[in-house]
Formats: sequence, structure tokens, C-alpha cells
Amino acid sequence: MRLTILGNGGGISDGLPYNSFLVDGRLLCEVPPDVMMSLFREKMPLDAIRNIFISHFHADHCFGFPFLALRLFYDGMAGVITTFGPAGLEARMLELCALAFGKDHPLREWLGGAMRFIEIAPGTTLELGDGISIKTFTMAHPVETIGFTLFGSGGPRFTYMPDTLWSEDLLPFIQSGGKAVLIDLNGEPGEAHRVHLSEADLALKALPRCAEDIVFYGTHLKRNKTAGAGRIRYVRPGDRIEIAE
Ligand SMILES: [Zn+2]
Repeated sequence: MRLTILGNGGGISDGLPYNSFLVDGRLLCEVPPDVMMSLFREKMPLDAIRNIFISHFHADHCFGFPFLALRLFYDGMAGVITTFGPAGLEARMLELCALAFGKDHPLREWLGGAMRFIEIAPGTTLELGDGISIKTFTMAHPVETIGFTLFGSGGPRFTYMPDTLWSEDLLPFIQSGGKAVLIDLNGEPGEAHRVHLSEADLALKALPRCAEDIVFYGTHLKRNKTAGAGRIRYVRPGDRIEIAE
């Protein structure tokens, strides 16, 4: 299994491509405003995308949806894409498309047939096809935000932890969520308004309490960073992370 990092930037960054990644080219996680630039830069075929996962409705995670939808509509995409996201997903995405291109644009009708929207609750297991499933959980963020562990045949492969502060509730999902954790590390020491996890939080709260072969990949950053303490690394756009079967 391969993760392709499309972007590593948070809502505020020094111009990094926004946080987004692909799993085996078929599951697109997050649809930030610049998602089309990132997909084309990494030469990822749009017609391989079967599922979209949106963790929450902050702009850096979903404002690219109208541009992706418009391109798929223009290309005459075959098949149906299933998009997963928090409660209110379908109304929110249709509203974004209406704001972007007008409510009478033919995109609106096309979406009805080409896109299936599934609102997810925490603690749900969703089958994505090709033997892949995700189990969802809640992050500690001001709006409803959902993370997941992805399972392949034989067990957990990796865990995705989008925007969050530290919460003890997250620990079990790290401990049982495979050998790779892609995680929001937007927090920096000494910030007045703490909304995101920092490397220091992770080193203090998680590293000593989970298996030593779990590697943490920080994303959703303010600026590019080099490898942190112990098993903490930072991703960059274009990174490929191979997940052992
Ligand atoms: Zn957010």
C-alpha cells in the first residue's frame, strides 16, 4: 500500500501546498483549495479516484471540492465516486459548488448521478472496496472532525489523525492503528492560541506509550520541517510512503 503526499500545509502556512494525500491512487483524503494543482503535479490519474474522505469542513480541507467536481464533470467521468465526511456533507458540498459556479450550473445535476455522499459518524467501519475499510473516530478540534484507521486484508495499515489537540482518547487508536500514523503537527511551541498538536505534545504523550516500531509522519504544517525527535518525521509534497502489508 502506498501513500502519496499531495500537500503538507495547514490553514496557515508559508505557502505550502495544502494537506492532502492519496492511498493507492484510489482514496483521496482531503480536498483543499489547491487539490487540482497537487494532483497534476504528482501525475495522479483522476479516473483512479474511487473515494474521497473529508475530515471536516474547514476551508483548507474542502474548498477544492468544486474544482475537482468540475474537472470530473468536464472529463465525463465514468462510474460513481463515494465521498465520506461529517454530518451535513452533501448539503455543504452542493452549497460550495453553487457558490463557486452558480446553482443552475449543469454540474449540480451531474453530481446527483456521479457522486454518492455518505455522512459518517465516529466509531463507524466503512467498506471502500478492494479489501480496504476505514474505522472512524473523533478528533479534538473546534468543529466536528473525523480521523480513521485504514484496514487492509490482515489488519490495520495506517492511521490518519487530522486537525486536533492532544486527547487521551486518541491514544488507543495510535496504539492499535498500524505502523504509520499521519498526523496534524501544526502546533508550534509557545503559541498563544493552541488549536493543533505539536511535536512536543506527541513526544511527551504518545511516543513513550506506544510500540517502538510506529512511525509518526507530521503534516498540516506551518512550514517545511526536518525529522523531529525519535520516530517523528515530516512529510513533503511528493513523498511516497510505502506501508508494509
Ligand atoms: Zn481545521
